[in-house]
Amino acid sequence: MDIAQLGDKILTGDRRALARAITLVESGRADHRAQATALLEQLSSARRQAMRIGLSGTPGVGKSTFIEAFGMHLVGQGLRVAVLAVDPSSSRSGGSILGDKTRMERLSRERNAFIRPSPSQTHLGGVARRTREAVALCEAAGFDVVLIETVGVGQSETVVAEMSDLFLLLLAPAGGDELQGVKRGIMEMADLILVNKADGDLKPAATRTCADYAGALRLLRKRPQDPKEFPKAMMVSALQEDGLVTAWDEMQALINWRKENGFWEATRANQARYWFDQEVRQALLARLDAPEARAMMDSLSSNVADGAMSPSAAADQMLRGHLKV
Ligand code: GDP
Repeated sequence: MDIAQLGDKILTGDRRALARAITLVESGRADHRAQATALLEQLSSARRQAMRIGLSGTPGVGKSTFIEAFGMHLVGQGLRVAVLAVDPSSSRSGGSILGDKTRMERLSRERNAFIRPSPSQTHLGGVARRTREAVALCEAAGFDVVLIETVGVGQSETVVAEMSDLFLLLLAPAGGDELQGVKRGIMEMADLILVNKADGDLKPAATRTCADYAGALRLLRKRPQDPKEFPKAMMVSALQEDGLVTAWDEMQALINWRKENGFWEATRANQARYWFDQEVRQALLARLDAPEARAMMDSLSSNVADGAMSPSAAADQMLRGHLKV
């Protein structure tokens, strides 16, 4: 494959070239990795940037329905929309929760939309890198909005939040008055909580749930960089396409504010630092998995167990002898 040619095609917005490039960044083969790195270098000079929107919610809350309706709205405004999924469960269960091909049927037929399900990967680190690089590819291909969806398994919300400009949490109306066991950490990541299914019989419950979350958000630490009304909770109905325009207005208002005040750029810079740090850590950990390193660990570990060496002396020997950069 001619990488420079593939890159040129991506820059023209060619969706097939984009799909091929994502397959390339998903590959674990060393030669593919080298090609992927060269491709990303080539494309980064175009310096195109999309609005990256992370979206999290448990299965059944209405993510596909929301993304389809919201995506159609954006496409209707003349925007180009890409949808990527982060679903670490796909490696465990053998089937991705987010990978179902029948999802978002209308949106998938749109010329200005691109939908890519989560690949099966063995670890979240792999999914994270693949998604981050896929986001960069979508930006180079000229998409205006990249939606990054996750079911919130394990640490996947953190991964998505660390590559998004804006993080949405989608919730369903709760039966009782309790907050639906949403972890505090996840609430703290959200810029906008969308209580979905605010329609028909569910409307009163949605209204209560929304008020509960608005109250909970007020108790969280404020982010000094944001207008005081954020983070916000609001109601939508993805099914009836209700509240989507307002939600989009809120998202744009927040992003514009951050851009005008320099916070948008600062956040992207911090995210780039974070991912650099993660890449280095992961590469170091991967070295521990090499057969020679494992053998040495086993042998030093026996010495430690026998009392022949102290743990720190053994660690020192390991680091000096076998994990040197
Ligand atoms: P996901 O698993 O989060 O992607 O959820 P889906 O989009 O597949 O939706 C799960 C179920 O909730 C489906 O039966 C949808 O029709 C339904 N649903 C989604 N959005 C709404 C909504 O706004 N109102 C109502 N009443 N049902 C909805």
